[in-house]
Amino acid sequence: MSAKVITIDGPAASGKTTVSRALGATLGWDWVSTGAFYRGLAFVADQERANLDDPKELVQLAKSDIWTIRLDEDLTRVFLHGRDVSEPVYSEEVGQIASKISHFPEVREALLEAQRRCGAERAGLVAEGRDCGTVVFPTAIAKIYLTARSEDRAKRRADEQGLDHSETIKQQQIRDEQDSTRKSAPLSIPEGAKVIDTSELSLDEVVAEVLSFSRNKLGLI
Ligand code: C5P
Repeated sequence: MSAKVITIDGPAASGKTTVSRALGATLGWDWVSTGAFYRGLAFVADQERANLDDPKELVQLAKSDIWTIRLDEDLTRVFLHGRDVSEPVYSEEVGQIASKISHFPEVREALLEAQRRCGAERAGLVAEGRDCGTVVFPTAIAKIYLTARSEDRAKRRADEQGLDHSETIKQQQIRDEQDSTRKSAPLSIPEGAKVIDTSELSLDEVVAEVLSFSRNKLGLI
């Protein structure tokens, strides 16, 4: 059985995770960060000292069972050799490596099936990332694209992780540029998506907008 899916795409620190988590809780649905798959692989590749420029080596690691993903209510968790490594996996440093390896089409393909499986055997799924509405779940019932001013996004991430604001702006700009200009599944607004700028909105306001859009689309959630 396939789940009903709502996709939430957008650039780094645009609020995707916070909104997906809140939306999942409101609807009683599961949610998944597809970024966890790229981050997980980036972390594992780094730990295993893999060659980050070799897609073949990365694909082998992508398919390896030494690491797994678990969808929890609070976080999409990553386990390596059975140990929860989610904390380092969500660092900006690992985000940079994830962005570097995610441009290989072979790597994206190797991670796609596992992302799609998250939509099976569930009542509903909120999926967030960069290509959820365009590639992973193109038939999703509602597609959302979150955005926010670059300074606001960097401030959000820097405050969350205790980082320097100006350094975080620079790092996010590099990541956004890489993610938007890569040839394979670049970050883009899916056709028919509702675009929401979260710069001036509270979490509740964003969730309310997403819910009202999704209700109109489906008529019954
Ligand atoms: O969303 P998050 O910041 O966790 O994603 C980390 C990186 O993983 C992104 O910068 C992007 O390069 C990659 N990613 C992707 N496609 C997705 C989700 C994440 O390429 N659907």
